[in-house]
Amino acid sequence: MSAIPLLPQVEAFLKRSHQLFIDGGYVPSTSSQTLDVIDPATGVVISRVADASQADIDQAVASANRGFQVWSQTAPAARASVLLKLADLLERHREELAQIETCQSGKIIQISRMFEVDMAASFLRYYAGWATKISGQTITPSLPSFAGERYTAFTLREPVGVVVGIVPWNFASMIAIWKLGSALATGCSIIIKPSEFTPLTILRIAELAVEAGLPAGALNVLTGGGMVGKALIEHPGTDKVSFTGSVPTGIAVGKSAMDAKLTRATLELGGKNSAAFLRDMDLDKAVNGVIEAGFLHSGQICAAAERFFVHRSQLEAMTEKLAERLATLKIGSPLDEATQFGPLTNKQHQAKLGQFFAQARAENSTIVCGGKVIDGPGCYVEPTVIIANSINDTLLNEETFGPVATFFPYDDEEQLLQLMNNTPYGLSASLWTNDLSKALRMVPQIEAGTVWVNMHTLLDPAVPFGGVKASGVGREFGDAFIDDYTELKSVMIRY
Ligand code: NDP
Repeated sequence: MSAIPLLPQVEAFLKRSHQLFIDGGYVPSTSSQTLDVIDPATGVVISRVADASQADIDQAVASANRGFQVWSQTAPAARASVLLKLADLLERHREELAQIETCQSGKIIQISRMFEVDMAASFLRYYAGWATKISGQTITPSLPSFAGERYTAFTLREPVGVVVGIVPWNFASMIAIWKLGSALATGCSIIIKPSEFTPLTILRIAELAVEAGLPAGALNVLTGGGMVGKALIEHPGTDKVSFTGSVPTGIAVGKSAMDAKLTRATLELGGKNSAAFLRDMDLDKAVNGVIEAGFLHSGQICAAAERFFVHRSQLEAMTEKLAERLATLKIGSPLDEATQFGPLTNKQHQAKLGQFFAQARAENSTIVCGGKVIDGPGCYVEPTVIIANSINDTLLNEETFGPVATFFPYDDEEQLLQLMNNTPYGLSASLWTNDLSKALRMVPQIEAGTVWVNMHTLLDPAVPFGGVKASGVGREFGDAFIDDYTELKSVMIRY
């Protein structure tokens, strides 16, 4: 097999001189600064985008405020209809969007198709369904009545206003859709700031949103570096930030939001997630589980597991079997449909993985397989299996955000729970066992926002998702997002 040819419309899109998406169309930046977009599989510059200036930010915020006036007054059913049309358009342009995403992120093409387009469309349809179901309560107050007067009260759920959606590079389209779906379903307008590494797909999606009938200003896209995100949060014309990214940046975002004007902040951050295999698990199934939990999209998934706990008696057999399986993975061009393992998304990230490998060697961890950066213009690293020496080893504690499974043995389930919870983070965890009774007794003792049993990583729009401890604040999906994107107004009436 070889790389699929790019569609002519993808070639043409990449060649464009990309401008900012403000007020329903493209607007040139007031700055002449641009950012290169690099294909991480080849190291070649494939496109350039504008680096928004403060004047551009002011213009986008003014537009988003006008967009909010229109969109928040649009009937919920009409809002749902636009989101449903956008979901249809995503699917109609499936291959085009998937190819753009693969070119900018190095994600293998099947994952771009399945997650960045198909899953994104189903998330959007889920949010569309909520637009008509957001409601308050009626309440009977217990205030005293002196002359026969009575009271009633009700609550309104009102959109917070202009949302700033800050998106990381790992799922540039799907995570942007989570944010714009939540914002637009609740009647907010949104300005998306994509990662500087992966700014292209969301620009094309913004065009499709206008085709779907979204009014000008309800969705703006400002490309640029991290400082564009910071300036948006601190802008007096924005009302909420929904951030997905790393823990250090999330803390900076939370501080900026509080310092600016108590801007509402939802923070979906990273972690150091555990997958624990109980003794009854068949080893072949367990190895499949490790690959699902740790190696999808080269491990660049916030919910992926990076710490693997296995009973001491099974550690050697399991890590050897896993190494054999990883050796069969086809590493190659993400545009080749036969490729199972693609590059990391950028050179900085590849260099960071190189440092983690060096650290593992310095700490005398056992490198069962992998542990090297692959030379060449692309951002490849080897799929890696490590056995840590001590629970304090760096690779058991710091997020690598790469294809690195670090193992540690346990002796009994009480110790296992302590090991799993021995981290400042708590985004996700998984338990693998045939003994569901045991699993259900352990689940409440695991400190994580999501606990999977016999599965890992897969998200569903109906199931709330977010972190505990240092992995974030707030929840996406389910009906939990509504609290974050609306303000609750109480109305009391005497009659
Ligand atoms: P970063 O935290 O580096 O960046 C995330 C976004 O924030 C980017 O758009 C970035 O822009 C922007 N940014 C950077 N500095 C600031 C600032 N001071 N103020 C506002 N915005 C800023 O994360 P990565 O892009 O490297 O993504 C990987 C991380 O994301 C991992 O830690 C992963 O765990 C986490 N993640 C969490 C998820 C969750 O749901 N919990 C899901 C997916 C990823 P730029 O890139 O242009 O610098």
